[in-house]
Amino acid sequence: MSSCFDVAIIGGGPAGIACALRLTKSNIRCCIIEREQTITWKPGEILDSKIVIPLMSLGIWDEFLRTGPLRATGTISSWGSDFLEKSSMLDPFGGAFYTDRKQFESTLCHAATHSGIQLYRNQGLQKCTRRPGHWELKTSQNKTFIANYLIEANGRGRSFSESSGRDDYDSLVALMAYIRLRRPTTDLRFYIEATQTGWAYVAPLPQNRMVIAFLTDAPYLPKGKKNNHRFFSDQIRRLRRFQNTCLEHTADVHIVSAKSSFRRKVFGENWLAIGDAAATYDPISGLGVISALNSGTMAADCLISNGFEKGGEIYAEHQKKVYNIYLQTRRNIYSIENRWPTERFWQCRHMAEPRALS
Ligand SMILES: Cc1cc2nc3c(=O)[nH]c(=O)nc-3n(C[C@H](O)[C@H](O)[C@H](O)COP(=O)(O)OP(=O)(O)OC[C@H]3O[C@@H](n4cnc5c(N)ncnc54)[C@H](O)[C@@H]3O)c2cc1C
Repeated sequence: MSSCFDVAIIGGGPAGIACALRLTKSNIRCCIIEREQTITWKPGEILDSKIVIPLMSLGIWDEFLRTGPLRATGTISSWGSDFLEKSSMLDPFGGAFYTDRKQFESTLCHAATHSGIQLYRNQGLQKCTRRPGHWELKTSQNKTFIANYLIEANGRGRSFSESSGRDDYDSLVALMAYIRLRRPTTDLRFYIEATQTGWAYVAPLPQNRMVIAFLTDAPYLPKGKKNNHRFFSDQIRRLRRFQNTCLEHTADVHIVSAKSSFRRKVFGENWLAIGDAAATYDPISGLGVISALNSGTMAADCLISNGFEKGGEIYAEHQKKVYNIYLQTRRNIYSIENRWPTERFWQCRHMAEPRALS
């Protein structure tokens, strides 16, 4: 038997849930179809301080605070010079939030189900067929969904509606490890350091954990899991942050794509894409989750105010503007670092910025 909805949202991450919450508030019947049975690991636990704005507008700010996020008290950086710069938080919104990402996602899912949204888990979308006046969706569990409108919020996964391709702006990859600390850390500053072939960050997390990430371009990675682990350890050991410490790191190393990209088409007839499915951001910007929430709410607002036909177009125009601002910000950040002018990693980032989206 098939289930029928006004809107089917593929993916129950921040973008999908924000969009569903907004649509449901306007009595639009929507469902979320999520591939994973339970909440699984995802990168991205440092949330921009302005996250307060979308979380308040979605009515989940208090629930978020109850999960006990830590608050950054400043930054230590080696970026553009050999000195370690220490800065305190001048941001009027205060410091960024360090969260437990699984707990953050769980808060979002709880808000969705509490609002009566049907969240179908363990239902990876496999096939999507356009029928006259509606979409027919088939999942991995052989379940069929019928929906008038399709919203793709499936992160960096493949597109189902129209495969228009994406413009990639780099080939950034992240190597990440999570370390359990023996005692709670009192230093809540965010650490960032540029290196010859990339950059690294270190941040404390709730429950006495710490995340360490090294970002570089894919061609710098050696082949094979073991070699990647060794490569990561070498890069981390060289950081000033760990120079006088004995870092016993045996944690698993996650390797994930972190490239900036924009989908060539973010809307079409009776569909649109939100969050990472539309645009991905370099972690240097710290914009991933907040942009996912904002694009989810913006898409819903456009559909509610302008109807399903016109709404997608207005949303797409807005997305392009946001992404052009991001590309400029990214360029400004990387242009500060000029110590390795002949290194490929930095050359790629100093090249004239790719044509702005029009
Ligand atoms: C290395 C790295 C570090 C990052 N660090 C940060 C950070 O510190 N702060 C920050 O704000 N952002 C960060 N980000 C970005 C951030 O994690 C993402 O931008 C954010 O998760 C995007 O949310 P989303 O809802 O669009 O997609 P996702 O969170 O990826 O959610 C997509 C959902 O779709 C589901 N799905 C996929 N395919 C299917 C299918 N076929 N059928 C059904 N469901 C499907 C997935 O299971 C998933 O739950 C980082 C990203 C990377 C790569």
